[in-house]
Amino acid sequence: MSKPAPADAAATASRPLDSLVSRIRDEVLSRQRFLITSHARPDGDSIGSQLAMAHALDALGKQSRIVNADRAPDHYYEFPGLDRIEIAEQVPADAAADAVIVMECGDLGRTGVRGFEGRYIINIDHHVGNRMYGDVNWFDVSAAACGEMVFDLIRALDVPLSFEIATHIYLAILTDTGSFHHSNITPRTFDICRQAAEAGVNPAAMARRIFDSNSFGKLKLIGSLLDGMQLLDEGRLAVLYLDDAMLDACGCTHNDTEGLINLPLTAREIQAVVFFKVAPDGVVRVSMRSKYDVDVRVVANAFGGGGHKNAAGFTVAGPLDKVRGGILERVTAAIAEGVRR
Ligand code: 5GP
Ligand code: MN
Repeated sequence: MSKPAPADAAATASRPLDSLVSRIRDEVLSRQRFLITSHARPDGDSIGSQLAMAHALDALGKQSRIVNADRAPDHYYEFPGLDRIEIAEQVPADAAADAVIVMECGDLGRTGVRGFEGRYIINIDHHVGNRMYGDVNWFDVSAAACGEMVFDLIRALDVPLSFEIATHIYLAILTDTGSFHHSNITPRTFDICRQAAEAGVNPAAMARRIFDSNSFGKLKLIGSLLDGMQLLDEGRLAVLYLDDAMLDACGCTHNDTEGLINLPLTAREIQAVVFFKVAPDGVVRVSMRSKYDVDVRVVANAFGGGGHKNAAGFTVAGPLDKVRGGILERVTAAIAEGVRR
């Protein structure tokens, strides 16, 4: 189990503005034009963190452009300002900027966008292993979501928590905690969510919009994924397989696969899930989730990826049959280690 809550929860509710946050505040206030980016294949935390920041910069009268390598999953487009995100492999030639704010990226390559190198970079991240590639590096592994850090920065900038900003902060936290399942949640997480609710965010509506937005095709896909699920390690490890033929058969795209990895964890015995997504060229995208102290990040690290204790991933050249055994062996070892703790 995670650590017990500190006796004085209020002390964690608003952390003192540390020198790094005040430095970033000053760097932001002294500049006018910003580029905001995050990792390829954006998730709720990257979308929420970027849009909350963009709305805060609007409130300060600053200019900002958001440049991402990939589109967000369709259902995120209901949230305010998503159409501002420009999709590009290269920073647009006309994107003059005094600073780039990079969220959620251990290194600049994770953005999947070329052309940020050599600019003034503000690096904001909560993943273990950040390479400190920025001119300012703010890296806090204790944050349950990058959105928690953005919340701190927005408070430091004295920007009021508007409905739009609160919506994106809540989106970041709700999704990056696996809807309040992961072990890095603290009293402060709820304090931020409380303030978001006070600013008008409706938690029930947010959960419905984010998690209950499946197409019928996705329901079919759930059936076919679970049908093909393998149980290993005496039922403690679930393995899911997906390829384009399965997607086609259900009328789905890769955007429909978000969240499916969590399904096996709802079975009591299952301690970890490995989700293999095989691309037509044989490249294998591996996502992992786990419960409690089972640390799948160490497995991701061993294969050049990263993430968090309970949610991590990496990509390997296939073929699947060649890499599968070694990966599952390491996850089985991580389960043995985590369950023993
Ligand atoms: P997902 O399984 O949802 O793609 O990723 C889960 C977590 O692992 C996220 O926090 C994500 O940032 C991290 N992650 C996934 N893939 C990679 C990767 O290839 N490299 C690194 N450094 N982190 C990854
Ligand atoms: Mn995150």
